[in-house]
Amino acid sequence: MRGMLRRLVVVFGDQLDEASPAFSQFDPKIDCIWMAEVREESTHVVSSKARIVMFLAAMRHFRDGLLAKGWRVEYTELQAPDNAGSLSGALERFIEKHRPKEIVAVEPGEWRLREGLRLILWPNGEGDWLEDPHFLCSHRQFEAHAKGRKQLRMEFFYREMRQRLGVLMEGAKPAGGAWNFDALNRGGFGKNGPELLPAPIAFAPDSTTRSVIEMVDRELPEAPGTSRHFDFPVTRNQALEALSDFITNRLPYFGQYQDAMWTGQPWLYHARLSAALNLKLICPLEVITAAEKSWNLGLVPIAAAEGFIRQILGWREYVRGIYWRSMPGYLEANALEAHAALPAFYWTGETDMQCLKQAIGQTLKLGYAHHIQRLMVTGLYALLLGVRPIEVHEWYLGVYIDAVEWVEIPNTIGMSQYADGGVMASKPYAASGKYIQRMSDYCRGCIYDPALSVGEKACPFTTLYWDFLARNRARLGGNQRMALQLKNLDRFTPEFLEAVRVQAAQIKGG
Ligand SMILES: Cc1cc2nc3c(=O)[nH]c(=O)nc-3n(C[C@H](O)[C@H](O)[C@H](O)COP(=O)(O)OP(=O)(O)OC[C@H]3O[C@@H](n4cnc5c(N)ncnc54)[C@H](O)[C@@H]3O)c2cc1C
Ligand code: SF4
Repeated sequence: MRGMLRRLVVVFGDQLDEASPAFSQFDPKIDCIWMAEVREESTHVVSSKARIVMFLAAMRHFRDGLLAKGWRVEYTELQAPDNAGSLSGALERFIEKHRPKEIVAVEPGEWRLREGLRLILWPNGEGDWLEDPHFLCSHRQFEAHAKGRKQLRMEFFYREMRQRLGVLMEGAKPAGGAWNFDALNRGGFGKNGPELLPAPIAFAPDSTTRSVIEMVDRELPEAPGTSRHFDFPVTRNQALEALSDFITNRLPYFGQYQDAMWTGQPWLYHARLSAALNLKLICPLEVITAAEKSWNLGLVPIAAAEGFIRQILGWREYVRGIYWRSMPGYLEANALEAHAALPAFYWTGETDMQCLKQAIGQTLKLGYAHHIQRLMVTGLYALLLGVRPIEVHEWYLGVYIDAVEWVEIPNTIGMSQYADGGVMASKPYAASGKYIQRMSDYCRGCIYDPALSVGEKACPFTTLYWDFLARNRARLGGNQRMALQLKNLDRFTPEFLEAVRVQAAQIKGG
């Protein structure tokens, strides 16, 4: 092919969109698509089997779709004997050999790749990344939003996005009379739990996915977790089916129960669409439009449609903006000076704390936990314990099938660990075991009591909560939003706080 190649289109594993601008004017006779599965992307942080399967199965299906159209695809599989092992190595080798006249690629979602690969693709500055049209807020628009603001807050960003795109708007006013219905989004289940829960549509692995599962077991046996239960959408058609299933069967209750948790019920009323969105199998706007349409037709309440749309149009776009503004320094942030190690049970689920056992257990089994399990169980425990934020980040990036840096880092470093000192969240998401008791049935099956802070049956979350407030008192004292929590702390006697400190030290010591 040397000298014959007009245009090389580089496609990364999370850019699986046939409508990508990188393919515009693609001529299969003289152009070629380049994709590669490389070990470095699965091992530069520990990566679970389910996460690796999600990426590679979706990539191989995407490749097969392009080949079926008669397009030329140079694709290296992970197990290929001549695999260069890294994206930069593989690209350098390919470009050197084939010398394409032009190279086209959409901006990667990761700072490390964006900066590291630019010089390899365009050593003389003869090209640059194409903007990623999958996002509804460009870098320029986010900068314009941020300009002149002392503090960024998702809520104001979200309102601007709704107005700009005309989503859930009635003229200049928000549909339903309010910008958000968050207060209606905090329902828990009654004693009997989520009865008659509609099971989400499952996609049994086809031969392509099965061969990826076998290959990952063989080539990366040390990767944590399992992919034995893998049933997520890995093609665009499957993602559209999953969207339709969610809109019809679970969206009506999404708003009400979006923060609730229940033993043995990993999906509840959630969409299971994050990986399909992050890999670009499906566009955020089509997901938002489907939810809005369902509300317009009177099929779902406004609190459900708004609550769901807020996650995508608000949080998802907002965290991306924060990521690009905060890199590369974000990973070093440690505002609360947390230096403890991540407990070993995060990699096994072997703990007598029911909530953590459930959340980590399903994570290692399925590569999935919903937002509140991530934020208010695994994230909360690490926050209260004072785990080094970068270790918490490595865990989240490694274990979830939807994990990609631009969304994982702000959620972990910023929202769940408050390591950025308030860029993402206005206060730490610190709570005692009583929050988990209110939002789930986990405490019913636990040997600990969420109401107790000291003693043999004390819930470790509750002990660590008071310890967290006491040791961060000076740091958080100026934050008005912490005033009530700190006022409650101040009610305790010095003797009681000393007993909490001693018990917290025992928990921290393992
Ligand atoms: C510590 C931590 C780490 C996280 N890491 C990731 C990650 O690596 N990848 C990822 O996609 N999400 C991440 N999230 C956000 C959220 O937990 C997942 O998007 C969600 O659980 C995915 O499941 P779902 O598709 O069923 O979502 P649903 O609960 O049904 O929500 C619908 C969609 O909204 C979007 N969304 C919801 N919450 C957020 C959020 N906080 N930030 C960005 N988008 C959001 C997702 O695209 C999701 O698919 C993280 C959250 C926390 C607290
Ligand atoms: S009692 Fe504490 S440790 Fe046990 S499930 Fe409840 S919150 Fe978790």
